[in-house]
Amino acid sequence: MQLTVSKHVAFFQRHLILLPNPYEEHDSERMALGFFCLLGLDLLNALDKISEEDRESWIEWIYNNYVLLYSKETKKSYAGFRGFATGSTPILNEQEPQLAATSFAISNLLLLGDNLSRIDKQAVEQFLSLCQLPGGHFKSTASTMCCDQDMRQLYLATTIATLLNISFPHTKLSLQYIQKCQNYEGGFSLTPYAEAHAGATFCALASLKLLVNSIPTQKQLGLDQTSVTKPYEFQDYIPDKKRLLLWLINRQQSSGGFNGRTNKDHDTCYSYWVQGSLQLLGASQFISQQDVKSFLLCQTQHKFGGFSKIPGEFPDVLHSSLGLYALAFNDKANFPEVEHAICLPTRRMPIKK
Ligand SMILES: [Zn+2]
Repeated sequence: MQLTVSKHVAFFQRHLILLPNPYEEHDSERMALGFFCLLGLDLLNALDKISEEDRESWIEWIYNNYVLLYSKETKKSYAGFRGFATGSTPILNEQEPQLAATSFAISNLLLLGDNLSRIDKQAVEQFLSLCQLPGGHFKSTASTMCCDQDMRQLYLATTIATLLNISFPHTKLSLQYIQKCQNYEGGFSLTPYAEAHAGATFCALASLKLLVNSIPTQKQLGLDQTSVTKPYEFQDYIPDKKRLLLWLINRQQSSGGFNGRTNKDHDTCYSYWVQGSLQLLGASQFISQQDVKSFLLCQTQHKFGGFSKIPGEFPDVLHSSLGLYALAFNDKANFPEVEHAICLPTRRMPIKK
């Protein structure tokens, strides 16, 4: 079975213009849904199918979601993006920027060729500081009445700091939080002492890599380097790497697909989360790449384009773009080179000054 490129391109183009009914409840996540469509098109080398007019109007729509606020507490401005500009979905404070929307907005702008010059980077640095909790993890907004507080938010904060090339608030605290989340199974969980999960594991490893890469010297972390002969690498911060590898390898099922937790069913997106984790560890040779490819192309690739979560279901934009990304890891002939710690083709990464 081959990758049906033209059908996938048409699938993402359709969804950029009009989302079918099942997406209605995700109205407040339009920034994320747009990201999966643009990413899918870029992985298929088809972003040039977007007209200049659409490209410019989408960039304007994204900047309409940019929010610059003033914190009475710190007496400083902070900024980020919200997930949607209009709509009636009741949320806590629709003016508050969110970490997820900010990360997706920056990625969308990079995919659309914007140079990010309209973003006040110092104010985004402040936003990250306001979202970090004393435990080293992050809450999804700066609000004191905020909801999500876990590994996903920490990962989003590291992607924002990396893409904007700004300082990360308290690196050492976040490194310690990540280490506390590796559980007895070997995988990482969203919060300490919870169940190991492939999505949380990817977020933990990618955050470790981005954080460790951004630390100029280990001395800043107060780590003793006298006993080692080489600088610390991100893998040196993993409490039990052997157990982690075994847990990751065991996620591949007889179908060739991966599950995200022990005793759960395979799901297209875990081909991304598990393979992404193994790529970060330089250990992708321990799984059958041929079996993953055949699971994706023969079982979840849909005849009208896109990929579904499990065989036989309708496709959606998240599983479609992550399914393509999973294929891109091991197919350099047909896909652009992709980043491992950040979900973007390498050619879209901002150049560090
Ligand atoms: Zn999934």
